[in-house]
Amino acid sequence: MNSKKSMSRKNPKKPLYNVTIDLTDAHSHRAQVRIEQGAEKLPGILEFPVWTPGSYMVREYSRHVTCLEPATKVAKNRWRVEGQPKSVSYEVYCFERTVRTSYLDENYASLVGATLLPLLAGPFTVEIKLPAHWKILSSALKFRAIGRGRYLAHVRDRDHWIDCPIVASAPGFGGVGKFRVGGINHHIAWVGLECARSMKEMEEAFEKIASTTLKFFGGAPFKEYWFLLHFGHKLYGGLEHRDSQLSQFDGSLLNEAKSWDGFLRLIAHEYFHSWNVKSIRPKALGPFDYHEENYTEDLWFAEGITDYFDDMIPLMAGMISMDAYKKARLRDITHLPDGVPAHRRRSLAETSFDAWIRHYRNDEDSLNTDVTYYSKGALLGWCWDAHLQKSSRKRWNLAKLMRAIWKEFGIDAYEDLASAKPGFTRSELFAFAEKLTGVKQAKLVESWITDRKPLPWREAAKFFGIKTTENVSDFALHHLGCQLAFGNSVTVKTVMSHSSAESAELAPQDELLAINGTRVGESEKTLNTLRKAMAKGRDLELLLTRGDKILKKKIRWKKHPGLGVEIGAEA
Ligand SMILES: [Zn+2]
Repeated sequence: MNSKKSMSRKNPKKPLYNVTIDLTDAHSHRAQVRIEQGAEKLPGILEFPVWTPGSYMVREYSRHVTCLEPATKVAKNRWRVEGQPKSVSYEVYCFERTVRTSYLDENYASLVGATLLPLLAGPFTVEIKLPAHWKILSSALKFRAIGRGRYLAHVRDRDHWIDCPIVASAPGFGGVGKFRVGGINHHIAWVGLECARSMKEMEEAFEKIASTTLKFFGGAPFKEYWFLLHFGHKLYGGLEHRDSQLSQFDGSLLNEAKSWDGFLRLIAHEYFHSWNVKSIRPKALGPFDYHEENYTEDLWFAEGITDYFDDMIPLMAGMISMDAYKKARLRDITHLPDGVPAHRRRSLAETSFDAWIRHYRNDEDSLNTDVTYYSKGALLGWCWDAHLQKSSRKRWNLAKLMRAIWKEFGIDAYEDLASAKPGFTRSELFAFAEKLTGVKQAKLVESWITDRKPLPWREAAKFFGIKTTENVSDFALHHLGCQLAFGNSVTVKTVMSHSSAESAELAPQDELLAINGTRVGESEKTLNTLRKAMAKGRDLELLLTRGDKILKKKIRWKKHPGLGVEIGAEA
């Protein structure tokens, strides 16, 4: 995987096209884009991607593209170029603060390639024009200054362009840093409104994560790496790339210990992805079809196993305590306790396959129908690790196996996806793991992926010596089988399948007015009313509104095992 030939970044071919992205009207939130012919005439059809890898939903990026000329629109994301022009131009509205969309204002920009350009054959050049007083521009594309506010990069192909987000900012709205570890230069660039930590603190913390991950795998798929950060009010999210990441966080909270730990876990997660999903990848995830959904049953591996290790890396790096790690391990069970009906409706494989239509569209039925491949996938990692360690008498563990899997299945960050070896299938992965470790695991782990039932996490907890506790954390969910939302009124948020609430004919969005004739109010008052009513008997009378109707419903409360409970570790 580390062949010298494929690591070469030299490309002797002349650029086929020359692209200019003008951000000088930053306050309008619009990028002015121009594509000029280079060694090739412009394509007759320009087609925009509908999604970007790592975020599995069709997002219809072309909805923000206007005034593409000279061309005729022939489909939602496709234009026919008219009259063989030497160039085309258009504008793109950039005002969505997520890691999979572009954002531009008078102070800074966070740009995602798939939103800005149609699918172009490479190589091509991209020039970015920034407002003259802006100082920072950072991206794995390695832009170089070619004039005041002008920067140029050479792009290998469309995968390269789509895989390299860009951040830029005016003075006071960003900062840069760097460190070198394991012979690899790592760059940090943040943009946005506020960063409550110094660059030195970030450099030191990121270096620990990088050094631990590099040791974990015994090498890297890249020769250089970029941490691109977008800080803003209530922002949270990350997107992995082959030799960079774009992560968002509320930078004003970074001084709080809990936020700082959560932020570093996010950084560790996206960094780990450069190996797991960008280098070791399920067959469907590279080469990519940017025109439609790319289905895979294996996001439990790409996301869940990465989630499993994003707590372990900070533990190995000495950044969190063993107690904090144990708590983190059990967090995934609290997130999806065994009583959640979704366990019986969708397997991990099904939930991964349906990511495109479910994962980013959480609704009132999610706990009934979706096991997230993050939490349940991480839990599977824990069960798999326990099985490996137990069966091999600790000769093997999942970390050691991941390292071997990377050596076997990984590709380097500069390989052309179209000609690189294909991604893994589950049968290849498990056959490799069994042969290498001598531990039978294929059938067992496969059943965890495809069965519609909870995982045997109690066995893993026992193996790792963690005594668990179970406390009711959501009183209404545990006793009535519905989640309540408290705001100006008390409403039913979710009704669990086969619960007391479902039998009593409660529905999402019903507004709860009274329990046994006592008016409900804010959360404590409502829960007190509920507790008092329950002390008097099994049947409660609820007064509700649904639309413009007042309803009376009788509900028989009971304990719903494994619902509304928090799993903790005994001290
Ligand atoms: Zn992830």
